[in-house]
Amino acid sequence: MFSFLPKDNHNQALRIKRFLMALGSYFMWSTFAVFLHFQDNTRVTLNVLVISLSGILVVNILIYVIFRSGLNKKFKDPSLTLFQMVVATFWTMVVVYYADSIRSVVLLLYLVVFVFGLFKLNVWQFLFLSAFAVVNYAAVILLLYKIHPEAVNTKIEILNIVVLATVLPWFSLVGGYITKLRAQISKALSTIEQLAIIDDLTQVFNRRQMYKILNDQKALGDRGIHPFSICIFDLDHFKIVNDTFGHSAGDIVLRTVAQEAQKNLRNIDHIARYGGEEFILILTNLEISEAMVCAERIREMTKILVFENMSEDFRITISVGVTEYRSGEFIQDAINRADKALYRAKANGRDRVEYEPSTAI
Ligand code: GH3
Ligand code: MG
Ligand code: MG
Repeated sequence: MFSFLPKDNHNQALRIKRFLMALGSYFMWSTFAVFLHFQDNTRVTLNVLVISLSGILVVNILIYVIFRSGLNKKFKDPSLTLFQMVVATFWTMVVVYYADSIRSVVLLLYLVVFVFGLFKLNVWQFLFLSAFAVVNYAAVILLLYKIHPEAVNTKIEILNIVVLATVLPWFSLVGGYITKLRAQISKALSTIEQLAIIDDLTQVFNRRQMYKILNDQKALGDRGIHPFSICIFDLDHFKIVNDTFGHSAGDIVLRTVAQEAQKNLRNIDHIARYGGEEFILILTNLEISEAMVCAERIREMTKILVFENMSEDFRITISVGVTEYRSGEFIQDAINRADKALYRAKANGRDRVEYEPSTAI
């Protein structure tokens, strides 16, 4: 069914919301126009009023259709901010043409238009728009001077143009600066989001993100949509690595194993650091037999890894415990089962994969 805002695309919904805010300003604009229409000796006849209000309506319906159909995504700036601002400046020019006695007040409309630039425009785009607005204003006044000289008070108009030509570029500088700050904040925010889910040393997901992914998988698993399996693996005799080569060499080994395991997984699978030198693999849409194959592959791959700053002969192995999630159970129960299998892999000599069937209680 058609919905006014797209439900599946956050960015598009945000763009349309901003467009709706701009519509609010057009409402303000229309109030000016209606006000002018009811003045004595007005030049805003009913015809002028109806034509311009219909013009605004048509233009905005068109802009909405461009957004809702997704056509806007074809443009360099899909928010169409500058385009919408140029259109709004045009309509402001129409009010300027008819405003006569209240023309100085109408200058405020330019600022209303410029505020929308704070969402996107850089200093140069702002300055371009300032120049566009000032030139337009001057052109309208010149035109009026020719057609209706009685509607122009030259002294006041010179002052108006001076005010516009100073205020708008000033707004542009400050506005461009704010846009830049916004971009920096949004970049910082995405860095923080990354930091919150990534383990600093190994650059794979951390434990918190692991639980989030497991809960998402559980939601799917409980609805019977996808099976999924988990593998917990632990580096064998890792303490000896630290004791022999030092902690920082140990760090390199940990990071390399995690990174290489990640490269070895499908895009839809996940790896997270579960504890010190223990990692968990979340294998989506895989039953236990397929998960065993994957675990074996990772085990074999680890055995032949060579590490930076370490002898070519140095080798590390892993032990792996595998289980499949049983629909409806607690995540922790599945983790405990994989842990039990891992314990058995260690007890049976390490460098091996063991599994714990999900039917076992
Ligand atoms: P096992 O085969 O039974 O697993 O033996 P192990 O030596 O690997 O097991 P143990 O649990 O005794 O040792 C784990 C070691 O992992 C101890 C700890 O110092 C080390 N470790 C944990 N986190 C880190 C880390 O971030 N960096 C480094 N370099 N070492 C770590
Ligand atoms: Mg270990
Ligand atoms: Mg351990």
